[in-house]
Order: sequence, then C-alpha cells, then structure tokens
Amino acid sequence: MSPSRVLVLNSGSSSVKYQLLDMREGAGTRLAVGLVERIGEQTSRSRHTVLATGATREHSGPVADDEAALKAVAGELAKDGLGLDSPELAAIGHRVVHGGMFFTEPTVIDDEVLTEIERLIPVAPLHNPANLTGIRTAMALRPDLPQVAVFDTAFHTAMPEHAARYAIDTKIADRHRIRRYGFHGTSHAFVSRATAKLLGKDPAHTNVIVLHLGNGASASAVRGGRCVDTSMGLTPLEGLVMGTRSGDLDPAVIFHLARVGGMAMDEIDTLLNKGSGLFGLCGDNDMREIDRRIAEGDKAARLAFDIYIHRLKKYIGAYYAVLGRVDAVAFTAGVGENAVSVREAAVAGLDGLGLAVDGALNAVRDDGPRLISPAHARVAVAVVPTDEELEIATQTYALVGKERR
Ligand code: AMP
Repeated sequence: MSPSRVLVLNSGSSSVKYQLLDMREGAGTRLAVGLVERIGEQTSRSRHTVLATGATREHSGPVADDEAALKAVAGELAKDGLGLDSPELAAIGHRVVHGGMFFTEPTVIDDEVLTEIERLIPVAPLHNPANLTGIRTAMALRPDLPQVAVFDTAFHTAMPEHAARYAIDTKIADRHRIRRYGFHGTSHAFVSRATAKLLGKDPAHTNVIVLHLGNGASASAVRGGRCVDTSMGLTPLEGLVMGTRSGDLDPAVIFHLARVGGMAMDEIDTLLNKGSGLFGLCGDNDMREIDRRIAEGDKAARLAFDIYIHRLKKYIGAYYAVLGRVDAVAFTAGVGENAVSVREAAVAGLDGLGLAVDGALNAVRDDGPRLISPAHARVAVAVVPTDEELEIATQTYALVGKERR
C-alpha cells in the first residue's frame, strides 16, 4: 500500500505547530498534534498529543532555534512509531505565508522554489524566513521525501487586477512588486467550500463572504470558488481591525508619526502591527476579555468593540456590492467561531441586505459547521470552523499522488 500520511508543519518566528494526518481515502484522520513555542528563549515549551490514546506529553526548557525545535518534534513523533523515518509518511506539507504572484498552487519544493520564497522575504520579512528554516530543516532530516509548500497567498492570486492593484504609479508598483496579495488563503478556500457544502450547493455556483476573525483577521469575497477580493494587502496589515494590527488607515498617519511624532520607521511598523487593533484601543486583544469588560461597563473595551464591528460591517457591505449576489456570510477562526457577541453585532441592522442572525441558533456552542440565520433567510449566515492543517494536508497529498501517477 502506498504511504498515506502527511506531516503538516507551520514554522513561525518563535513557534512550530504541526499535525500528522492520515489521508487514506481522503479522510484526513489526525494521528498526532503539537507545538513548540517560545523558541530561542529560556522558557521554551512543547506539547505533543497522540490522538489514538489521547496521551499528552509536555516539556519545558530552552529550545535554541527552529532546527532544534523540529528535531524535538521528530523525536516526539518517533516515540509512538510515527517518526519521520516511517515508510507510511508520504510527504511533508509546509505552510508558507508569502508566495507572491509566482505561486498560484501548492508546489513541490526544489532549489528553484526555495530561491523564489527567499526572493519574497522583502514583502514578508517576519514570516518567510521562519518558513524557509522549517523547510530546510525538514529537507535535511528527510531529503528523499517530497516536501510541498502551500501558500497563504495562492487562493488570492485569482483576484482580478482591479482588486489587486493599488492606485499608485504602475511603474513604481511593478518595480517593487507592490500589490494586494492577501493572506489566510488556505482558510478562505477551505471555508468557502465548506460553506457551499453546508448549503448543499456546488461551490462553483456559490457566492460567499468569508470572515476569518482570529487574532489576525481578514475578509474575502468568493464568487463560484474563486477569490475576487480580500481585505489584507501587500502585507497582513491592511483591512479589518485585528488583535494587535490597525487594519486600514490613512497612509498619511505614517508620514505624520514620522514627521510630527518623530518616530522611526521600525517603531511605526511595530506600533501598527503589534501595538494597535483591539490591544492598542483597550489593552486587551482577546475577545473573551473584551466581552467580560464590556459586561462590567468598561468604556474603552466598549469603544474597541464598536470600532471592530464598524469596520467589519463596512467590509460585509463592500463585498456584498462586489459580489452582487451573496449566498452566505461565513464566520470562522477563533473570534468568528466563538464570539457570539461579534456575530450578532456584525449582522445587526443588515436586514435590508437579507442578513439576520437567529439569537438562539447563534448562542449554540458546537464544533461543526452550522447555520445561524433564521429559516427562509435570503442570505445564509453560518459558522464554519476552519481547518488549515487539513486543507494543507489535502492539497499536499493530492499533489504528491498526482506526481506519483
Ligand atoms: P485564532 O487566531 O484563530 O487562534 O483566534 C484567537 C482569538 O480568538 C483570541 O485572541 C480570542 O480573541 C478569540 N477567541 C478564542 N476563543 C474565544 C471565545 N470562546 N470567545 C470569544 N473569543 C474567543
């Protein structure tokens, strides 16, 4: 029998998350999941869970770098006979944040692919270097095994030029590869398809507004399975209000902070990416905490929530206009899947667009995809849990299978 397992690796700047899945008959059965976090600090820690037994092993103590982290992951997997040397392992699927316009599909990694991911570092300085280290370490551990890059940007490469281009000098934009790339593409692809399935419709004939609301957040307009617009741009900074990112602002705010505020460019970068959004507005970026503070009458938390919702509503309206006809609005990721208050507020007052939320359905806690709009609503409103790891494993396995045939 041909090997059927895929190891999915998400190598970040200070963490490695992984899942081992068995893809036999497209099932996507999870065998092991885990993470190593705070890499490079004295307080690194790791957690590894074997799904068959439910056993979890935790370790703490310094893990020097991504390479050491990946070796630790391989060691944990090996303890249960699931190691990287297992003949059952078909491929490793790597999440890669920025694929530019070059990568429109998952791609088997070779030297040329590595070079291109490296060339994209200037537009993804935080993410692509960490992704590359993960890939190189995994390749050194199993040089004979197909390694596949699945890009966060790939789903959005279908965007029409009028949605992807900024209205700046074309020559300058092209010289510096400035355009709207979009991110969270694996999630938007997975959720738009899962939403069509929930409606019992063919994705090719379904229009969906996907709201991926996690600590990072983005919206997308998906027409017949293709992305026609998305809220993140050159980098993940554009668009919705996020946990710590500002999302949209007048670019002149940056000139002002530099000229009048005397801030250095790196300081402004950090402010807008790490010190803004919900956190910048009220000191908390966790929606649970914000909900709790609002219930206690906290004014800063209330205003942060209202700004977050106002921006979200504007994107729902904008993407409604982009699509013309909308079959569903789907909420996903940490906030979208869990925050009852956000879903209720985001859709409140949009009855004119055929959008409404049923209070009782919205309050139900469940792990699966579900409708929360009233029966017979013109537009479905749904909660559709995202599963980026399953999507990466599915795409990786399909590509490796195709290459084998
Ligand atoms: P993600 O980036 O998709 O993992 O989402 C993380 C975010 O989801 C957290 O920062 C919280 O704001 C939010 N979140 C997670 N669980 C809940 C919950 N039960 N209620 C409200 N928000 C939640």
